[in-house]
Amino acid sequence: MRVIECPHCKRQYTIQEIYMPNYLLGYAKDIVRNSDGVIEAFDGVEQDLHEQFTCEECNTTFKVKANIEFETEIVEDESFNDDYSTTIYKDRIKLEE
Ligand SMILES: [Zn+2]
Repeated sequence: MRVIECPHCKRQYTIQEIYMPNYLLGYAKDIVRNSDGVIEAFDGVEQDLHEQFTCEECNTTFKVKANIEFETEIVEDESFNDDYSTTIYKDRIKLEE
């Protein structure tokens, strides 16, 4: 599990105690892509990786910056691909509501 440490007293916090998930990831809807699949525009809020937090133990206020990386890899299992297609379709339905 990843934790965030107070830089002064080293008290540990979970990511969820410091970040609101909706701010950390932002949200996107009505995404516009060109024919190559490149995103050109979307409505929503960009992710905010910066947060400020005051330690409950030593009262030190410190800044936190998240470094989020995403890696992709092709799943070779054919049956999983079928399930995955279904999930994407459901997501599209939700976005249109
Ligand atoms: Zn502290």
